[in-house]
Amino acid sequence: MASALTDKLTRLVKEMRGQARITESNVQDMLREVRMALLEADVALPVVRDFIARVKDKALGQEVMGSLKPGQALVGIVHRELVATMGEGVADINLNAQPPAVILMAGLQGAGKTTTTAKLAKHLIEKRKKKVLTVSGDVYRPAAIEQLKTVTAQAGAEWFPSTPDQKPLDIALAALDYAKKHYFDVLLVDTAGRLAIDELLMQEIKDLHAAIKPVETLFVVDAMQGQDAINTAKAFKEALPLTGIILTKLDGDSRGGAALSVRQITGAPIKFAGVSEKLDGLEVFDAERHAGRILGMGDIVALVEQVSAGVDMEAAQKLAAKVKSGDGFDLNDFLGQLQQMKQMGGLSSLMDKLPAQLSAKAGAVDMDRAEKDIKRKEGIIQSMTPKERRRPELIKATRKKRIANGAGVQVQEVNRLLKEFEQMQGMMKKMKGGGLMKMMKKMGG
Ligand code: GDP
Repeated sequence: MASALTDKLTRLVKEMRGQARITESNVQDMLREVRMALLEADVALPVVRDFIARVKDKALGQEVMGSLKPGQALVGIVHRELVATMGEGVADINLNAQPPAVILMAGLQGAGKTTTTAKLAKHLIEKRKKKVLTVSGDVYRPAAIEQLKTVTAQAGAEWFPSTPDQKPLDIALAALDYAKKHYFDVLLVDTAGRLAIDELLMQEIKDLHAAIKPVETLFVVDAMQGQDAINTAKAFKEALPLTGIILTKLDGDSRGGAALSVRQITGAPIKFAGVSEKLDGLEVFDAERHAGRILGMGDIVALVEQVSAGVDMEAAQKLAAKVKSGDGFDLNDFLGQLQQMKQMGGLSSLMDKLPAQLSAKAGAVDMDRAEKDIKRKEGIIQSMTPKERRRPELIKATRKKRIANGAGVQVQEVNRLLKEFEQMQGMMKKMKGGGLMKMMKKMGG
């Protein structure tokens, strides 16, 4: 469960104790590990090469601060460079156009275009109070048109009818005309799914683009696509002036290296991430979090490790007994753990207490941010009723909204916390029967 990358770097660091700088000779081994980690996360090879070159440039000659070791410093540099690469650019949808603002959705079949079209419609209606029309130009699969009709209704937007005997261009122009006459703010144009890069279909979407002049041309790409994402991204970038990327299926178990590949190849900002099949599963892309995921330092892993490293054995035993007795791990326990972290004098000071292996991990995250994050999480749990804390699975959408209001956060944050909790609960279940104690001893020792 530990991050492979930081472990390896820490081992390397041990071998070069006493070196205060990142140098040409010590950086090579470390960069090899970073390279492996990126490839494991499915970042495309040419992108990895480029990235490593940039990191090396930044790292060489860098003074290593205070008690940080060169390996820890390098993880920090890698993390920051990942964030910088994936995070630049405008996050939200640009609607700066004479209404209706036209948004063209492009991508391979199965990438999640139709679902994402409806998610975006919902987002624009709820968050930006827009009047939204959707239309499907996918005349090759009648089911695709019907699918858009269904999800558009679920999103609370209006759907413009089209039929398989029409030309996509005619459909789009008719929808545009209708949107103008009926004062829609936004027209979302879903396009034909391409199974692979296909010349004819590429020409079709190019013509469509030229005719409807979208203010946003969004490339929808499946995060599970891995190495292949780079070829798809190249083809779409050559065909269309992409203005943004939406990365779907980030709820899957891929490490999401496609984000880095696609961002670098297209130069377009990653605007949103799809995190479920449901229409509320669209989040503003968070480069910081995603960098952690690519490096294999998911939030939950870091949290468990930090907590277990500082936790006192009595509390650990109680928790272990609880897990064992089948009482279950609930949000009260989760809150307890968060509070314990705070009691230990804040994360920054906690870092000094951690064994080297763990502080390397902690060194890569922004401590201020992490501390604020804990406070927000506490706020969310404290806005729940005692019953909800014991049985979080009972929390319905309306309650989530109230809880979010109570804690002064967005609903997405409540969802994220519940998901994190679920993951941790899953881990706790797996550790039944003494595993937890063993893990804590290992971590603390
Ligand atoms: P299209 O062919 O590009 O229009 O793709 P669809 O919108 O039909 O999506 C293909 C499949 O991926 C469907 O089963 C969707 O429910 C699923 N899907 C789309 N986005 C996400 C996501 O963010 N997470 C998950 N888990 N599934 C998604």
